[in-house]
Amino acid sequence: MPASPLRLLSLALIAALPAVADAAEGITALHCPALIDTAAGKRLGATTVVVDGNRIREIKAGTVTPDGARVIALPAGSTCLPGLMDMHTHLTSETSRDSYSEGFRLNDADIAFKGAVFAERTLMAGFTTVRDLGERGAGVSISLRNAVNQGMLKGPRIFTAGKSIASTGGHADPTNGTRRGLLPDPGPEDGVVNNVDDARKAVRQHYKDGADVIKITATGGVLSYAKSSDNPQFTVDEIKAIVDTARDYGYTVAAHAHGKEGMRRAIEGGVTSIEHGTQMDADLFPLMKKHGTWYVPTIIAGAFVTEKAAEPGYYPEIVRPKALAIGPKIKGTAGAAYKAGIKIAFGTDAGVFPHGQNAREFELMVEAGMPPMFALQAATTHAAELLGMSNDLGSLAAGKYADVVAVPGDPLENIGVMKQVSFVMKDGVVFKAP
Ligand SMILES: [Zn+2]
Repeated sequence: MPASPLRLLSLALIAALPAVADAAEGITALHCPALIDTAAGKRLGATTVVVDGNRIREIKAGTVTPDGARVIALPAGSTCLPGLMDMHTHLTSETSRDSYSEGFRLNDADIAFKGAVFAERTLMAGFTTVRDLGERGAGVSISLRNAVNQGMLKGPRIFTAGKSIASTGGHADPTNGTRRGLLPDPGPEDGVVNNVDDARKAVRQHYKDGADVIKITATGGVLSYAKSSDNPQFTVDEIKAIVDTARDYGYTVAAHAHGKEGMRRAIEGGVTSIEHGTQMDADLFPLMKKHGTWYVPTIIAGAFVTEKAAEPGYYPEIVRPKALAIGPKIKGTAGAAYKAGIKIAFGTDAGVFPHGQNAREFELMVEAGMPPMFALQAATTHAAELLGMSNDLGSLAAGKYADVVAVPGDPLENIGVMKQVSFVMKDGVVFKAP
């Protein structure tokens, strides 16, 4: 496009706008009274994290201050951890009694402003990196990611799937629950596919749109306006077409799944992670291990929909029995998967419950039988591995991004302190301090 004078003027104005946070500059010495080394699975005493720009320069035992460094001393009793990572969020939506009519009332701009608020709440809760697995509004999560990366909004590092890929009437068919003829029949451009050619087209459309990861809905789900929560919704061939095409573009594939048959097809089709996994059991654990499939439980989403299903009118009547059937089971599945030695990464389904409450998942993981250190690793080292970002994220070590959070207490003694994150640094920039 030729640059018109007006366009040049608007670009100059954008350049002059102050970013929400100054870029990280110079050396900072972060004095931590204690620090969780998630890579080693150890709690260390007083430790200094030396930050240079947006990266960690070194980790030093004790309280040290390199020449010329700015010092941030955290209060006694604080524990530093790597920035937390939630592998299953929906930053462009949030449940409420009105959710099911929002599709008729909200424009993409309304969704975008909500997303900006939800992203900030997520960051302030200590989550410096998220996967966003299914957006509202065409491309809104991609624009949100870009705005955060440009420093215009406060939010986590976002790896987004854009729109979830579903089959007709499936869990992520955006026209479910609307009368026939009101909306055009959605196709691969809208993330709805019914054969292998459409499946390839949908993945390529995501590449063109700028997604970072692919999400499919391999079975029915709880909150969609449809009858089944657990029926299989793709053929193995369709899943394989999605996974093979995704691989061509360097994408991993996350699969929403509650029922066993749909989950089996997704695992055999080669997806990277199973989300929710409600009916996963001893039949499927060996298959998960054989394929190296990750499990992202989202126990908090199950707990929340169980609570809300008891309130008449909160969900439509077609949804309520599904919430009561699926919701209470996820915690037991997560505990069994941990015992079976399945690879587990932390994820919540934030948006199904209010954004910013993500850390309640840690308590539920511990209630399910996981040791506190394992739960913390699920949200740091494991999540980084799932993302293929272990060189940059997931632990406090020289060379990694300077994403550091602190809590007022020892999470290994009381996992509940994870809900009270008091300090947040992302990319070397402090967003919250005690
Ligand atoms: Zn979800």
